[in-house]
Amino acid sequence: MAAVTLTNVVKRFGTFEVVHGANIDIADGEFVVFVGPSGCGKSTLLRMIAGLEDISGGEIAIGGKTVNDVEPADRGIAMVFQSYALYPHMTVEQNLSFGLRMNGNPKVDTDRRVKRAAEILCIDELMQRRPKQLSGGQRQRVAIGRAIVREPQVFLFDEPLSNLDAELRVQMRVEISRLHKELGVTMIYVTHDQTEAMTLADRIVVLKGGNVEQIGAPLDLYDDPANRFVAGFIGSPK
Ligand code: ADP
Ligand code: MG
Repeated sequence: MAAVTLTNVVKRFGTFEVVHGANIDIADGEFVVFVGPSGCGKSTLLRMIAGLEDISGGEIAIGGKTVNDVEPADRGIAMVFQSYALYPHMTVEQNLSFGLRMNGNPKVDTDRRVKRAAEILCIDELMQRRPKQLSGGQRQRVAIGRAIVREPQVFLFDEPLSNLDAELRVQMRVEISRLHKELGVTMIYVTHDQTEAMTLADRIVVLKGGNVEQIGAPLDLYDDPANRFVAGFIGSPK
């Protein structure tokens, strides 16, 4: 588990500033959802936390240590994307173990981690299949499995369910909640879907045009939105 702290984080692409000094404090083991309309900077924030994108100003700390200059692989995080990005020519088992094998992780430990991830996600039966022989929900489970085997302290999810149909989305939402309780890790989850945010989050960060509009527990945002944008987005009466 690790806390994640963003202090005055700025992001510019060239001269175009897309994140204007974000301050966000995430506690150990917390489930925080970044929510806001398309283009408001959710993915950019997540990618900066992951180290996939440089920051233009400010500081990001994970587990109390500044990670501004730390490589993505050394940040103790794992990211699950909207597009599953599975290797089509590999079996599920190979997809799960690939990263660990590349890092020279001992085989016994790799096997143990893959088995555990498969059990947690109920994909034990699918280990010898290839991605094209899986349903959308099963592929998404494998993508999450690839994050689990890394045993990260922080999970980052970027709209992981947006390619799934409505029914499966609800089911996977429940599973991600269960996963959070079971693993007890910090999770940061990006979505433009208010319902997902309200049902998953311990706290929600509402973003608009690269600004943090409000941070709070779902019911607090609903009962006491900071402004009309938050009220409109969360669906509360103000
Ligand atoms: P969201 O995930 O909330 O939809 P993004 O973080 O992807 O938003 O994008 C935030 C803003 O940054 C958008 O205006 C987008 O066009 C811009 N942006 C994102 N990535 C790049 C990039 N590599 N180069 C230039 N602009 C970018
Ligand atoms: Mg995005």
